[in-house]
Amino acid sequence: MAEVNPQPGDETTSPLAMPPQPMQIVLGSGNRPGPSLLNQATEGRVPGVITTTTDQLFAMARKSSLWTLSFGLACCAIEMISTYMAHHDFDRFGVVTWPSPRQSDVMIVAGTVVKKMAEPIRLLYEQMPEPKWVIAMGSCATNGGPYYRSYSVVMGVDHIIPVDVYVPGCPPRPEALLYGILKLQEKIMADAGAGDASETA
Ligand code: SF4
Repeated sequence: MAEVNPQPGDETTSPLAMPPQPMQIVLGSGNRPGPSLLNQATEGRVPGVITTTTDQLFAMARKSSLWTLSFGLACCAIEMISTYMAHHDFDRFGVVTWPSPRQSDVMIVAGTVVKKMAEPIRLLYEQMPEPKWVIAMGSCATNGGPYYRSYSVVMGVDHIIPVDVYVPGCPPRPEALLYGILKLQEKIMADAGAGDASETA
């Protein structure tokens, strides 16, 4: 007997008449969590979002608002004072001079540290709250300068308190002190895990 091929319109082409297909199982996403917004943000896939650590956030705030203790010891202090004046304008960097150690976080040692002043300087340093930083401004504060091995001068303020940045010169110009502050800002960020302070003096 000859085989008859099904033709369009023939009732054998109806879906009800099709042979049964094997069952396909499709898995949905179920209860799995969606993509993490934090991961997307850290990978830079969310526009307008910056992520950082709290250490770096606090360091950014601190380095942008340095309050320096107002005191000077000798001729370098004149250059430091002129750095605060309108021409150089220390305030541009968020540096504010403050007449009390209780709220200051930077000590600029500007001038010759005679042995008579060593204890008062250490006392002022200890009265400053943490975190705090010290800039040795000029040759005298760095290593005694012109008074090296003098009977009455301390051979560098780092003999009595820790120093973060040394600014060379006798005296250093205001631009040098400005550069010292920029280096201190770099160091603050590097200590918080952001940036590289390898060039910091
Ligand atoms: S480094 Fe020079 S300018 Fe500064 S306090 Fe000493 S002698 Fe004066």
